[in-house]
Amino acid sequence: TPVIGVLALQGDVREHLVALAAADAVARPVRRPEELAEVDGLVVPGGESTTISKLAVLFGLMEPLRARVRAGLPVYGTCAGMIMLAGKILDPRSGQETIGGIDMIVRRNAFGRQNESFEAQVDVKGVGGDPVEGLFIRAPWVESVGVQAEVLAEHGGHIVAVRQGNALATSFHPELTGDHRVHGLFVDMVRADRTAGSL
Ligand code: GLN
Repeated sequence: TPVIGVLALQGDVREHLVALAAADAVARPVRRPEELAEVDGLVVPGGESTTISKLAVLFGLMEPLRARVRAGLPVYGTCAGMIMLAGKILDPRSGQETIGGIDMIVRRNAFGRQNESFEAQVDVKGVGGDPVEGLFIRAPWVESVGVQAEVLAEHGGHIVAVRQGNALATSFHPELTGDHRVHGLFVDMVRADRTAGSL
């Protein structure tokens, strides 16, 4: 069974731990570099990306996170977590840094104030069955992706789910809906990565 960490600095950590357990992974919070070293995959939760960024630097996690993601650690970011995985943020707050992992440019709070929170049916490539109930909360969208990134979903003409190699990101929050199929997709990515590593 793969062991998947949830970066537990700020945000909806508990909901991801529950969703990962429901998707047949062993899930645990990650706050220290030693804990990061022990996981087979990592979720970066939704929350506030500026806060997560500052706490990651403060806790000495930013460089270890970058190093492991660069080395191919499977990683999944939702909303603020998507922002953390972006190669570039269009409108960063001062001092805001990212882990990187996906060659994409992300716009924070892109869906606007009047729509701070809404739900929409989203077709996600790689997720079988009905569309996913996408919960968007002051969500970012992806302005553009590099050639290595694959767009998995769009909403209203904007990119809202992307995969590049072992890195996955969604603008919306599957951890809040009780539908664990996107977490299932990520757990499958982690399993595939472990199999590849043991060959
Ligand atoms: N707007 C938040 C940010 O910029 C993200 C919101 C969320 O994660 N629900 O980090």
